[in-house]
Amino acid sequence: MRRAFPLGSLDCRPMRRLPLLLVAALVWGLVLALIALVLVAPLPSVDDSAPAGLRRVLLGESHEGRPIKAYRLGDPASENVVLVVGCIHGNECAGKAVITALKKRPAPKGVKIWMIEALNPDGAAAGTRQNARGVDLNRNFPRKWRRQGQRWSTYYSGPRRASEKETRHAMRFAEEIRPDVTIWYHQPLALVDRSGGRRAVQRRYADLVGLPLKRLDPLPGTATRWQNHRFDNSTSFVVELPGGAMSARSARVHARAVVTVGKM
Ligand SMILES: [Zn+2]
Repeated sequence: MRRAFPLGSLDCRPMRRLPLLLVAALVWGLVLALIALVLVAPLPSVDDSAPAGLRRVLLGESHEGRPIKAYRLGDPASENVVLVVGCIHGNECAGKAVITALKKRPAPKGVKIWMIEALNPDGAAAGTRQNARGVDLNRNFPRKWRRQGQRWSTYYSGPRRASEKETRHAMRFAEEIRPDVTIWYHQPLALVDRSGGRRAVQRRYADLVGLPLKRLDPLPGTATRWQNHRFDNSTSFVVELPGGAMSARSARVHARAVVTVGKM
């Protein structure tokens, strides 16, 4: 049997659906906005209008949810920006003592110093070189990244470039603060590795702390390599401290050297 107004009933349908479609669109919009909020995680809002003195920002969390924090010291208005990272390999964390020493100093003038005590807090807690996923973070940066090793092997690069949260936190933070000089502490070779950037800065640091300046073979996926390539006029280098804990006196000498080269 034929229906009286087959087309009419069809025509009505979009009209009845309209509010439903609107609601669906709204809900989708909200969902997408939420996803965007989570993905584009808020950059640590670096507010340089704050007065001099210690200031803390949260870069994000490690794989196991430990906070990765940065502290700022010194002159917030200064254009000389330094970043020091006390610990990237969790079993080479003596450099954290340099940060402790820096915090105890009176706020230096003419330089702004950002300090990350541990970029790899999970590794530091477990006493492992790698992060909690068994990745060597200093082979995980994107510049000249190369797949090597496997989970928990010494130099495991991770499954792909910048696959690790910790790596991405460091990259985002460097993009944000654009350090002129970055120092990454490692152990136990007792030398300053001429890693790239301005040689004079690395020479000076080595002289001030009494370590030899040497040039180790450049490695794939290191933090210094990425920074020195990514940023013009950036000097990012490795300080290999001796093995074992650092004396308070030695930490003070390094802290002074950080401030000095930060003004170069
Ligand atoms: Zn190391």
